[in-house]
Amino acid sequence: MSEVYAKDFSEIESTLKSNYVLKNLVLNLAQSEPIIGKVVEDREEKSRQILLDYFKGNITYSEAVTQTEKGLPRGESKYSQENHAFASGWAERHVKTQISRFYNHAVLKKIISSGSNDCYIHHSQSEDQDSKCTRELAGKTHSAAEVLKNIKAAYSEGNYSETLKVPYHPHCSHTVYPVV
Ligand SMILES: [Zn+2]
Repeated sequence: MSEVYAKDFSEIESTLKSNYVLKNLVLNLAQSEPIIGKVVEDREEKSRQILLDYFKGNITYSEAVTQTEKGLPRGESKYSQENHAFASGWAERHVKTQISRFYNHAVLKKIISSGSNDCYIHHSQSEDQDSKCTRELAGKTHSAAEVLKNIKAAYSEGNYSETLKVPYHPHCSHTVYPVV
């Protein structure tokens, strides 16, 4: 049986239910990689537990968002006065970004360990037509090593830049896909 992968963000949850090897890789990364950002600073582990529960299949995406809002209240953050960090929908933006970076990181590792360096990015039903990732990433094959390097720099090391990565922005619905 061929392995299942997500063609866009909306398919990640069902993909992890049927692809156990990938699910374990995602869980390992979610247990070990830093989770960075003002909304989680000094409370990274609370966010990590919620994300692990999501990846294990114990809670849904919307439950992960609600638990993040309640478990990491804005008032407890040292950045609570910063409206930019806590703009409306901050919990969903954080959860979506983290699910996407861990999922895509895992798929890229798997592609590279299989001896390939090609990853394809499908167009997504919910993509933003004007976004740079839609114009430059979607519908094309890319270097898995390059996209992985950019994901690590942004989401594990906190060096945000304009490099092409997935997710490219907080509402990015693209995913990387192995080229058979
Ligand atoms: Zn995108």
